[in-house]
Amino acid sequence: MDKQAVFAQVAELEERIGELYGELGSLKKKIIDLLEENSKLQVENGNLRDRLEGQTSKSGGQQSSVGGFNALTKLYEEGFHICNIHYGSIRTEGDCLFCQSFLQKS
Ligand SMILES: [Zn+2]
Repeated sequence: MDKQAVFAQVAELEERIGELYGELGSLKKKIIDLLEENSKLQVENGNLRDRLEGQTSKSGGQQSSVGGFNALTKLYEEGFHICNIHYGSIRTEGDCLFCQSFLQKS
């Protein structure tokens, strides 16, 4: 058995794993960016829908704000911030006090 060859192979493999690990990291970052963008678009979409409903039905104002609130609650439960500070980003450390106070206030 050529020990040098085996050693070289292991080193090469190590390098490739390092590259893959780097790629995985950047992919993970892209996924997070996409999820955050998606959550912002969902809220934006909900806001626009609310506005549209408010325009088309005169009694829709109250109802639509409830719909908007439900959308935010749902978003929070899905793991996103809905507070002013971290709005639209993924909650990585469990519950957020700012988000919770917003939910209680509304
Ligand atoms: Zn928050």
